[in-house]
Amino acid sequence: MKEERISLLSRRQFFKGALCGSAFLSAEFLALKSRLNASPAIHLSQEQIPSIFKLPPLPYAENALEPYISTKTIGFHYGKHHQAYIDNINKLVQNTEFVKLSLEDIIKMSAGDSSKVSIFNNAAQAWNHTFYWKSMKANGGGSPGKKLADKIAASFASFDNFKKEFMEAAATLFGSGWVWLVVEGDSLKIAKTANADNPLTKAQIPLLTIDVWEHAYYLDYQNRRKDYIAAFVDHLINWDFAQENFAKI
Ligand code: MN
Repeated sequence: MKEERISLLSRRQFFKGALCGSAFLSAEFLALKSRLNASPAIHLSQEQIPSIFKLPPLPYAENALEPYISTKTIGFHYGKHHQAYIDNINKLVQNTEFVKLSLEDIIKMSAGDSSKVSIFNNAAQAWNHTFYWKSMKANGGGSPGKKLADKIAASFASFDNFKKEFMEAAATLFGSGWVWLVVEGDSLKIAKTANADNPLTKAQIPLLTIDVWEHAYYLDYQNRRKDYIAAFVDHLINWDFAQENFAKI
């Protein structure tokens, strides 16, 4: 009788344990199944993704462009938006032919391919933002050195006229996008691109750019895009960077 009770208890404990065990295995199995069925772009955690592309360091401190662009704007724009484009492209190129390419090559190879829209958008936005940070500096603005100044005068009639046309292009770009000073053929031009698009996909070489997505200025200027553009042109443009790009051509 006593033995029977012990045996019964053990059997109950065994079944209880087995039940718990099977519930555990079942949850694990479901999680694994869900991971295998899921798109890696959505479900891989940050630790599981090799960082092929890294967020390049800002060329200045986050507060360096005050009072024209606030520390808060740079914190979100660089730390959240730019970082997100980098994270997204790292996820999207996993297990694709793009994994070994540079950002520039990914942009050129995915441009215009309707099946590669996300790859293009995130690669281009990652690249555009790095170019934008370099297009600005503390105590920027002013005018370029003689070689570039002469080219601007030859292409736009005068430096003041270039400024007017550049500001007008940035103010009138509809929706989200970028405005660029580019070299095209023998002269300089102002180029407007929508969303993530950039001059790399055209026969143009960019010298500098301004981001006119609302996230670039809304915290500081709200709807006053023109004030942000004027601050960029008069106080932030890094003409040294534009000159370096011009000298490479
Ligand atoms: Mn932006």
